[in-house]
Amino acid sequence: MNGEKKRVAIIGGGITGLTVAFYLQKEMEAKGLPIEYKLYESSERLGGKIQTDYTDGFVIEKGPDSFLERKQSAARLAKAVGLEKELLNNDTGQAYILKEKKLFPVPGGSVMGIPTELTPFATTTLFSPIGKVRAAADLILPRRSNATEDQSLGTFFRHRLGDEVVDYLIEPLLSGIYAGDIDKLSLMATFPQFHQVEQKYRSLILGMKKGKTKQPNTGKKAGMFLSLKGGLQSLVDAIEYHLKTDAVEKNTSVQHLKKNDNDTYDLQLADGRTETFDYVVLTTPHQVSLSLLSQYNVMDSFEDMPSTSVATVAMAFPESAIKEDLDGTGFVVSKKGDYDITACTWTHKKWRHTAPEGYALLRCYVGRFGDEAIVFEQDDEIVKKVLRDLTSIIKVEGEPLFYQITRWENAMPQYIVGHKERVEKAKKAVQETLPGVVITGASYEGLGIPDCIDQGEAVVRDLVARFT
Ligand code: FAD
Repeated sequence: MNGEKKRVAIIGGGITGLTVAFYLQKEMEAKGLPIEYKLYESSERLGGKIQTDYTDGFVIEKGPDSFLERKQSAARLAKAVGLEKELLNNDTGQAYILKEKKLFPVPGGSVMGIPTELTPFATTTLFSPIGKVRAAADLILPRRSNATEDQSLGTFFRHRLGDEVVDYLIEPLLSGIYAGDIDKLSLMATFPQFHQVEQKYRSLILGMKKGKTKQPNTGKKAGMFLSLKGGLQSLVDAIEYHLKTDAVEKNTSVQHLKKNDNDTYDLQLADGRTETFDYVVLTTPHQVSLSLLSQYNVMDSFEDMPSTSVATVAMAFPESAIKEDLDGTGFVVSKKGDYDITACTWTHKKWRHTAPEGYALLRCYVGRFGDEAIVFEQDDEIVKKVLRDLTSIIKVEGEPLFYQITRWENAMPQYIVGHKERVEKAKKAVQETLPGVVITGASYEGLGIPDCIDQGEAVVRDLVARFT
């Protein structure tokens, strides 16, 4: 063990671990901090869930395809690694909801499904007249008195807007993000801002309308999301390029963590080595962190936390193969329907750089909370089911030029009701029992790419504060 420098281990080379490594190295160099770090990644590549494939001129995202522009940390990181000119917004377009075999445009002015303009909601045929009247009850319903108690997103929205708007608009839109069950997901851990709107304005519709008008009108007609011309993998590659090569160990799984009497930590690696560190940052999914720390019982609150398995199915076609071509970015599928796909992005329209001229790239999702068996079926079975759905919905003709299926087992952590308390409890227990260890990443305080980057930045701030 080096007598002068403090040693920091980062376990996991997904975007959270990469953020910690990149900004820590930057701070070390800028401030001459007496630290050395090692990043251990069990697989042969960095990036974790971020993975892009490049085939025949197509740019195919196997995991995430973009990040929210409003949350600024991801664009900031991209700029910090020299990718400013590579950032691009999605091409705007209409998104659709699939209900009872028909595609309905998402009503204009809806923010995450909450109406903020009257006319599009009054005129849409997505809801029945009774459903619309029930949603309008939000305008007069009182706010709930249990101001801070957690509840499911379903309970909250069903109370305010009624079942129809929830089942045919909010549920498909929100569960597209979490691959979760809206009646189990925690309001406070996923969208606390909706709770705040209710507390402040009482009516969600009026509150969201007010919030919306406060947004500056930049006159820019751009999408809400950002991606990179070279695919999200280019962010991973650019970060890796900036890291010291001897600080990164791929193909190195950490198998065990032990606290020593002098408050250092031994990491046992799969190849038999044991390395000693002063600080350990665990960015692995909670199941892995739970197992690495199992002997200390500090993550018991996470034992029952589920994760959903999903698969992305990318299919390339000549554009002429899509007979009912709508102008839009894609559709999400209401859970009430009889379809295997849960969402489909018309990637070639949402992100024009992803397909050569004259070709279409469709990216579908299968698997949702409690209904994940399809993810583990044979490729040809999945393709058959996805094609059957696409043929019935947008009249796709013939076989795809090629397809790619990526299975993500237990990849979407489910922030079920009480999640924030579970996180606080586990973090407090880790801090008390293992003061040099931190748990962070997608399982805890947000699973979007910017949320993971925010968490990585916070860890670096904390580490730097310990040394300055
Ligand atoms: P991970 O990416 O899971 O990284 C953890 C790393 O730890 C992995 O590389 C793993 O190999 C490694 N590891 C595991 N065990 C060990 C061990 N014992 N030793 C060493 N290393 C280990 N977010 C968005 O913002 N926009 C999107 O469009 C979007 N779409 C998504 C689509 C899909 C299909 C999925 C699965 C996720 C999507 N997300 C999206 C969420 C986002 O991609 C993830 O939450 C985020 O990338 C997770 O980053 P992470 O670093 O926390 O974890």
